[in-house]
Amino acid sequence: MQARWADTLPELAVPCQAQRWPAPRLAWLHDAVADALGWPSEALQGPQGVALLAGAALPPGARPVALVYAGHQFGRWAGRLGDGRALLLGEVACPNGALVDVGLKGSGATPLARGGDGRAALGPMLREALVSEAMHALGIPTTRTLAVLTTGDTVWRDGPQPGAWLVRVAASHLRVGTFQWVAALDDLGLLQRLWRFAAQRHDPALLEGLNPDACDPDRVQAWLRAVVQRQARLVALWMGVGFIHGVMNTDNMAISGETIDYGPCAFMEGYDPATVHSSIDLGGRYAWGNQPRIAQWNLARLAETLLPLLHPDHDTAVALATDAVRAFGPAYQRAWRAVMRAKLGLAAPYPGGAASPVAWPPTVPAQDDAWAEDDDALITDWLNALAAERVDWTLAHRRLADAVADAAQAGLGALPEHAPAPLHALWSEAAPLQRWWGRWRARCARDGVGAPARAAAMRRANPGYIPRNQRVEEVLHAALAGDLAPARAFAAVLRHPFDEQPGAARWATPAPPEWAQRYVTFCGT
Ligand code: AMP
Ligand code: MG
Ligand code: MG
Repeated sequence: MQARWADTLPELAVPCQAQRWPAPRLAWLHDAVADALGWPSEALQGPQGVALLAGAALPPGARPVALVYAGHQFGRWAGRLGDGRALLLGEVACPNGALVDVGLKGSGATPLARGGDGRAALGPMLREALVSEAMHALGIPTTRTLAVLTTGDTVWRDGPQPGAWLVRVAASHLRVGTFQWVAALDDLGLLQRLWRFAAQRHDPALLEGLNPDACDPDRVQAWLRAVVQRQARLVALWMGVGFIHGVMNTDNMAISGETIDYGPCAFMEGYDPATVHSSIDLGGRYAWGNQPRIAQWNLARLAETLLPLLHPDHDTAVALATDAVRAFGPAYQRAWRAVMRAKLGLAAPYPGGAASPVAWPPTVPAQDDAWAEDDDALITDWLNALAAERVDWTLAHRRLADAVADAAQAGLGALPEHAPAPLHALWSEAAPLQRWWGRWRARCARDGVGAPARAAAMRRANPGYIPRNQRVEEVLHAALAGDLAPARAFAAVLRHPFDEQPGAARWATPAPPEWAQRYVTFCGT
């Protein structure tokens, strides 16, 4: 294990030990994540493995630290935050060459705990394990969960809860808030070191040919633009699966472009852009439909921290930063269009080549194309049709894919004139869907993709299985009663979200609307 954070940025890394627990036990292990790290999963299950996952037996080179960062919480500057209940054990060079952070969450109070107990409860940690692995299987960049362990004692939340911690693997734990803390310190040397550390980690090509201590303004600007592009794509992918992060504070936005900090997150069922489930988000700041503009707001906070690196003249630096942040708008629009084209099975026109449907997860083109405007109108009208009856987001897209698959199966050259019954069944009023279907069918006919290829692409873009809130609660309830089998069964389904899984229908069923609309998630647990 390496200790690059601790070595390179000691001002942002407070040495710290994980708490010792009375009876640590492994509750959850993701073999695929262990494999990615090159850690044999059998070994992790033995006493030495558990000691490693507890931060009690440190691998050579590890020097655990709590990371310091600041942040805006719900739009308000909160000053210094930092890992109050988390620790970075160190960085691991994976067999595939990637360097990743391995950290603990719920490992006891750190010097940055600000009066918090430093603890985590089993329910929320299993929730993160399930949802983060579902996100990974959906093709969405995310931190991953290696393991969840129980402490053997009790934490107090609304009542007594089994204590637990989670072992998290991240491309890095660099956050917008990390830069904000350094900017608040007003330490130019540290800011340069942080930027170089971040660029080295996520955009090493930008450092090529640069002196080891230099911070070239053009490259800083290029880096900021790269972060903006990554976030635009990430949020568009979230939107495509109905994911609501729930607490998009600047300290919960990773520079890597991974989804980080699964707290009060939830999945939208009935389509309504104003959907919010978090108990603390009273104003709907982090509602599904607000996520793009919040991402841009957070990126503006990042850009502000970089002003001293962008240009010696303040006004020029502000203009450069503003340009970079404004680029989020078109970048997001292109990412969202690519996401929705993939979901609706639309092929972008490729001059000179055979058209093929946009594959999931989409790469985002640098330019708009000739069909962009028409497709945007088609997408908006589809959304309006969904919104009119609050149709289930996941089911509607999956049934649209099924409609194409059925046409392919029947050997039809074109899509049927009328939307098939299973899709219609999601609406009580037939006309808006039928009107849209006619336009979509005509658009499909134009791009020349055959039904089998379109069906295959759409089934790979529209999951049948997501972590539906009601099912998540159900399996966590069982887990807290001592039965992890339902959570494991659900996780097994979620690992293959795009496959047809006979016998798994109950995991794909939407909750009754009364339940879904009243669903509330909690933070800081
Ligand atoms: P979050 O809302 O999860 O992003 O957390 C915001 C801040 O509160 C971070 O600095 C966390 O480390 C800290 N925090 C959350 N829960 C606890 C806890 N139980 N004990 C100490 N710090 C906490
Ligand atoms: Mg956080
Ligand atoms: Mg959190």
